[in-house]
Amino acid sequence: MKFSELYEHFFGLYGERNRYFMPDLGDRIDFLAIAIGDLQDAIRKNAHTDLIGLALARVVSRIFCIAEYFNFYTIHRLNFANALASKYPHVCAYCKTKPCNCPGGVRPAYDLNLSHGNQDEWALRDWCNHLNELYGANNKQKGIENLINRLSKEVLEMVILRFNMERRKIDRIEMIKEVGLELADALAWTIAVANYLEINLEHCVLSRYGSGCWNCKAKPCVCDDFVIRQIDWVQFK
Ligand SMILES: [Zn+2]
Ligand SMILES: [Zn+2]
Repeated sequence: MKFSELYEHFFGLYGERNRYFMPDLGDRIDFLAIAIGDLQDAIRKNAHTDLIGLALARVVSRIFCIAEYFNFYTIHRLNFANALASKYPHVCAYCKTKPCNCPGGVRPAYDLNLSHGNQDEWALRDWCNHLNELYGANNKQKGIENLINRLSKEVLEMVILRFNMERRKIDRIEMIKEVGLELADALAWTIAVANYLEINLEHCVLSRYGSGCWNCKAKPCVCDDFVIRQIDWVQFK
């Protein structure tokens, strides 16, 4: 399944649920933050790989939940696959080499206009392989806590964008572009965590959401008792 098809799959699956239960962008950012907190917990508790995979799949689903907000509430659709290809082209967008050879500390400015060939055709699996080739070795050195921190930081950047958007400090077209890049970064750090732990992220996402809602089993989801909750660790013991 191409990445763009996966993105559409999530809209079909959870679009209505999201609009009904989480009409506000802030709710969706919180929803993502909670999933990242659960992922941190899973890693800290040294949970079974299957459970970490589930926590990773939830993060992906909630990144899509934020993207979906911008496909229904504005006239400019957010093209996630395109944002991902702009930020993560065939070479590192900062140092322009593959694998990345960026200096430690302050990196050069990134270039959003590098060639990204057939990346539109890629599946999530291809993105995982690509980012592993590009940044895998560097990320192994950074360590898992660093990767999780970077993922958490993306949520804070979403909070800042929302704050400025609500105060009309940023116009809508600019907002869509910025959100696309932030979500691309959030997904890339999620992929980095999965790659670090040698977890097949596409498999985790498809096994939880591929054939319908994990809870009600329907597509679109018809869950009627939607509550945001943390993973109940006790039940997984
Ligand atoms: Zn680089
Ligand atoms: Zn459901």
